[in-house]
Amino acid sequence: MAAHKLLLLPGDGIGPEVMAEVKKLIAFFNDKGLARFETEEALVGGCCYDAHKVAITDETMARARAADAILFGAVGGPKWDSVPYDVRPEAGLLRLRKDLALYANLRPAVTYPALADASSLKRELVEGLDIMILRELTGGVYFGEPKTITDLGNGQKRAIDTQVYDTYEIERISRVAFELARKRRNKVTSMEKRNVMKSGVLWNEVVTQVHAREFKDVQLEHMLADAGGMQLVRNPKQFDVIVTDNLFGDMLSDVAAMLTGSLGMLASASLGEVNPKTKKRQALYEPVHGSAPDIAGKGLANPIAMIASFGMALRYSFNMGKEADMLEAAIAAALDKGLRTADIAPKGTKSIGTAEMGQAIIDEMETLAAAA
Ligand code: NAD
Repeated sequence: MAAHKLLLLPGDGIGPEVMAEVKKLIAFFNDKGLARFETEEALVGGCCYDAHKVAITDETMARARAADAILFGAVGGPKWDSVPYDVRPEAGLLRLRKDLALYANLRPAVTYPALADASSLKRELVEGLDIMILRELTGGVYFGEPKTITDLGNGQKRAIDTQVYDTYEIERISRVAFELARKRRNKVTSMEKRNVMKSGVLWNEVVTQVHAREFKDVQLEHMLADAGGMQLVRNPKQFDVIVTDNLFGDMLSDVAAMLTGSLGMLASASLGEVNPKTKKRQALYEPVHGSAPDIAGKGLANPIAMIASFGMALRYSFNMGKEADMLEAAIAAALDKGLRTADIAPKGTKSIGTAEMGQAIIDEMETLAAAA
């Protein structure tokens, strides 16, 4: 069995607490002979600043490039609020995304049946929801130049952000969308604002061309991003894969996330190009939540977002779809038994801690693996 090299970057706050539960799962996979994972661990974020005065070291970056996948916890906290901007904790994550060219951000929004009542929408709208928001992560208005604030000298200032997309950037993100859809329910909805933005016109044109050339078997629809936002809360189950740019993706993925209830449940993946030699993609997997300083060190954090991020690594980096399905089923089974960390427990009900939830999921994995 080939070894998979994982770089673990637990980070700050609850990062190490939720990563500890993934380490136990990794040991479970190794012990059961389901996979062979080799792990290395390094500092990132505030703890790395404390040790090395940077948010991530060059040595860790080299290890990140060599890894088959990176598992990232969370970074930041009040302790580092006043450190210089370019070495603030988040700079470690941004450097990983930028240097590894992780241009495709996958944010699944899945409602576990047991948690359908935790959503702000009605149960029937979200029960069984399983959609994937694919956000372009390295281009668009967050990076385009010029990006300036100019003093006009008349008591006014002018701020400029520039939305820029080249054909190749739209082509590669749409390919990821169509490939994802083929493994799901075979439908892609592309969202932009072609009615008012030139970048939207090009986006629409390029997605249409890639579809016609390479993915005719996948259903494609186009939607204006504002209408898409409305449809996401009106009838979210109509979607399978939504592909959109950096700015719209930032907002729409947060909207979709809230359909599912809690921040402690949300996983994500950021993927780069396939290396033509090794056929592997650079990939980083992380929970959507931050370091939660308010509950750090108390053993209260919900580890499911981190565990589900590991599940995404199984699926997207290691082609272990069956095991990823098993892990999702184990999470659902633990929830079905009524087990809840404080963030997802209804008011006044009993909740369990991080380690107990991690162990409950491993127990369910034991049962599922024995039955397989
Ligand atoms: P946060 O996601 O850390 O926390 C928001 C709220 O959700 C808090 O009340 C927290 O207790 C709760 N929460 C988050 N994750 C949880 C979990 N797994 N289980 C239970 N409850 C959970 O966001 P914030 O408070 O805005 O930011 C705190 C720090 O994290 C800041 O320094 C911020 O910059 C950083 N941050 C880092 C990342 C990242 O590493 N990717 C992302 C967002 C924020």
